[in-house]
Amino acid sequence: MSAQTKPSLERMRLEHEAWIANWKASGRNARGYSAPCCHRRIETAAPSNGETWDSFVTCPHCGSLHFKFVTAKSVRARIGVIK
Ligand SMILES: [Zn+2]
Repeated sequence: MSAQTKPSLERMRLEHEAWIANWKASGRNARGYSAPCCHRRIETAAPSNGETWDSFVTCPHCGSLHFKFVTAKSVRARIGVIK
């Protein structure tokens, strides 16, 4: 990891933590899951109803991309597209 990448990844992780803390403090739903890339824990915003939120995500721990499907009660995440 280059000296240029590391501070930016650390900043992204801190910004993510601040953002999700603010999201939860406002009473909205959040779910934790194990990142498929590095198996570290990530918290994500989650819908509070029957919706599914799907998106490509940059892991705030290692910087890899993964795909996630988030519902009110669960998160499925993997590298590549979920079928
Ligand atoms: Zn990761």
